[in-house]
Amino acid sequence: MSDDKDLLETPDEKEDKPKKEEYEKICFMCRRPESKAGKMIDLPNNIHICTDCMQRSFDTMNSSNINYDDLMKNMPNISMIDLSSLQNQIPKNQQVKKKQPKEKIAPKVFDIKSIPAPHKIKASLDEYVIGQDYAKKVMSVAVYNHYKRVFADCADEIEIEKSNMLMIGPTGSGKTYMVKTLARLLDVPLAIADATSLTEAGYIGDDIESVVSKLLAAADNDVEKAEHGIIFIDEIDKIAKKKNTNQRDVSGEAVQQGMLKLLEGSEIEVPVGANSKNAMVPLTTVNTRNILFICGGAFPDLEGIIKERLNKSASIGFNADLKDKYDHDSKILEKVTVDDLRKFGMIPEFLGRLPVIFTLSGLTKDMLVEILKEPKNAILKQYQKLLALDEVKLEFEEGALRAIADMALDKHTGARALRAILEEYMLDIMYEIPKDDSIGEVVITEDYIRHTGGPRILLRGQELPQLEMN
Ligand code: ADP
Repeated sequence: MSDDKDLLETPDEKEDKPKKEEYEKICFMCRRPESKAGKMIDLPNNIHICTDCMQRSFDTMNSSNINYDDLMKNMPNISMIDLSSLQNQIPKNQQVKKKQPKEKIAPKVFDIKSIPAPHKIKASLDEYVIGQDYAKKVMSVAVYNHYKRVFADCADEIEIEKSNMLMIGPTGSGKTYMVKTLARLLDVPLAIADATSLTEAGYIGDDIESVVSKLLAAADNDVEKAEHGIIFIDEIDKIAKKKNTNQRDVSGEAVQQGMLKLLEGSEIEVPVGANSKNAMVPLTTVNTRNILFICGGAFPDLEGIIKERLNKSASIGFNADLKDKYDHDSKILEKVTVDDLRKFGMIPEFLGRLPVIFTLSGLTKDMLVEILKEPKNAILKQYQKLLALDEVKLEFEEGALRAIADMALDKHTGARALRAILEEYMLDIMYEIPKDDSIGEVVITEDYIRHTGGPRILLRGQELPQLEMN
């Protein structure tokens, strides 16, 4: 039967007729597709209206006391709209194709047994994060304990405290990267927020609770999943208490105060699918008791505070030391105490809710070279893979890598500078190589990086002298 029907339609007709399942429903009034406007109300003749427009029409009717019968009588030439004439009026170019439903991967059951032991967590981190051994160790143990606590039956009196963390380390040393890697390894949702954008509720900026709604979005609006997630708050040093100010400190101390209940664990009402609460978005309740909070910051000037404290204690009594003993100590940050952080401007209640405090070291030249080539998804490996798709081998001279690391060190933004520098040099290579099929290998030389020569280009089966390339 259906075959017969198909035969009756010309090919053109077949093409124009939108397949019902393939296209989204579109609101007849505001023209938004179902994915934007939400569930549609279906009317006869293939007409759909979104709930917003429907509500608006009701509101208008209620507020203006129009007598529709009178109206019709006074305008004899106007008849009621014939809905059937509007059928299929939405042109094809305005229709939005439905998104293919994502293939559902069976949810991973995350129970106490599936949490890898700390040494395994650290071993996995080692594959991605270079150096920072101490930080990786502390984090692995803290995360392990946190999830053990979450899934353990805490029915007895001994309640294990939450292991929220505070990471202190220079910019570009891998703070965000470590948290991201960790969340991916553990398969838990992660939200990254910037403390500088947070303000006390009611002021311009994001409410503190917006970080929880970000996490909810990362968990695909699954409250239960979000409640086991991780929230990373970067630039936490920027909400230090402002010194010597009489103004209301809406983005400093007040934010720290506001975060207290979040860090400790409480029921938070958050908007679903939006960053701020308003009348149009539904709200849901998320309990932050089992959410792991990790705060990170560079804490500039903290070294000065630590030095001052150490010098003070060292210069008292018979064992008085040289005054500049700590001036050249590169590991000074590791000696940080809660008191130093308090002096920096963090309030004691806030610090009390971050029991795990640790530092990351600044990256050295050797570490930068390693970051270029060692991690599982190292930048060099990415370029090598890209060129391998064109069947071209890409090699780097050790000197070239050291030269790139030198340049990155000069920029003082840690490993973040590496990609930008490399990209600049690789642009010409990626542009020129695909032009010539006979090229089999490219060697990035130190001279090329230092602008004193070009890369070495090898043709398939033979070697050519250095080519100039700028
Ligand atoms: P920050 O400490 O300022 O949060 P990021 O974590 O954003 O720094 O680091 C920026 C980038 O530098 C990361 O995306 C990562 O690729 C790289 N990176 C930084 N530190 C390391 C490291 N120790 N090992 C490997 N890659 C790193």
